[in-house]
Amino acid sequence: MNAVASFLYHLGIDSPRKWHPLLSVYYLTYACDFRCPHCSDGVGKPYYRLRSPTLSGSRVLDLLRIIRRHSEYLVITGGEPLQHPDFREVMEGLGRLNFRGVILTTNGVALDSLLPAVAPVVTELVVSLQTLDSERADAWYGLGMGTHRRVLANLEQAARHPGRKFEIVISSVVTPENIGDLYGVYHFAKQRGFRLAVCPQLVGVKAHASLAGSPAYRQFYDFLIAEKKRGGRVQGTVDYLEYMRDLRQFACRPFTMLVVSPVGEVFYPCLELGNFAGNLFNEPDLHRLRQAGCACFGPQPKCGTQCHSACALGFSRFFENPASVLHEAALWTRARFRSAL
Ligand code: SF4
Ligand code: SF4
Repeated sequence: MNAVASFLYHLGIDSPRKWHPLLSVYYLTYACDFRCPHCSDGVGKPYYRLRSPTLSGSRVLDLLRIIRRHSEYLVITGGEPLQHPDFREVMEGLGRLNFRGVILTTNGVALDSLLPAVAPVVTELVVSLQTLDSERADAWYGLGMGTHRRVLANLEQAARHPGRKFEIVISSVVTPENIGDLYGVYHFAKQRGFRLAVCPQLVGVKAHASLAGSPAYRQFYDFLIAEKKRGGRVQGTVDYLEYMRDLRQFACRPFTMLVVSPVGEVFYPCLELGNFAGNLFNEPDLHRLRQAGCACFGPQPKCGTQCHSACALGFSRFFENPASVLHEAALWTRARFRSAL
């Protein structure tokens, strides 16, 4: 099923016996040398502490071939995916799988030497950045002085890379410690033509308790919304940003996504809840996996106010308020029109 058919399917049907994801997310490896204080999976454990074997490059490509049968768009994430020992081989093979979009998330520190492998394959390069203050960033990364400067230099190098297919997205986590820093990050991104994607820090599945009701948090999202309305390159619709600002309850649609562990286990219904429906190598039929997951763990849960992540909230608002996407298109057109004058 292509993305348009899948979109219509989720808008009108979403049978509990079928699984037609719009997007697949693959955790290439959980390994990461950074020690960001905000790093957290669904139970509050940092990804770098999760223990999982990794597949060889050729097995990763076998798995991605199965995933490609189910969706046209792929996110490669981690941990730090560039730390996978066969990362270059994965990028080379990925080009032959004809995904319509490949999003790669990275902390950016090892990007320079891998740019030639990334540039022809990846359509969105998402680099984490929480501040422009190198001293603070280096303390958070935990890898010693100079790490943050290297990330910034690699970003500039990525922007200049000849023939790159990707656009650059800066991904920032709003924590109680860095709200003031993020205005600078926004301007840094704006000056370079990068998009900014912002999410609140999640502790497990909930936004950090100090963010809810924080005037500084609210003001920052108000700033992003104002910039967005002026044509700024801020990820998400105005409606989505308002939900993030208010940390409003939303109706999650986890089956819009397929989320896969490093070894091919399929999360049911989402990584945050941590259940597995089965392994794609043993059962490549996603409909059967959804049925198996439902038999073991029950149907889609009704979650409360939680998981204000880009994917969970983004897909929810996409389907609950499709008109907001038209508004987004209008803002985009107006911004392009203005820049052409
Ligand atoms: S770079 Fe990402 S995976 Fe690594 S510690 Fe930071 S948040 Fe966690
Ligand atoms: S809100 Fe969505 S992503 Fe979060 S635990 Fe519930 S189903 Fe999973």
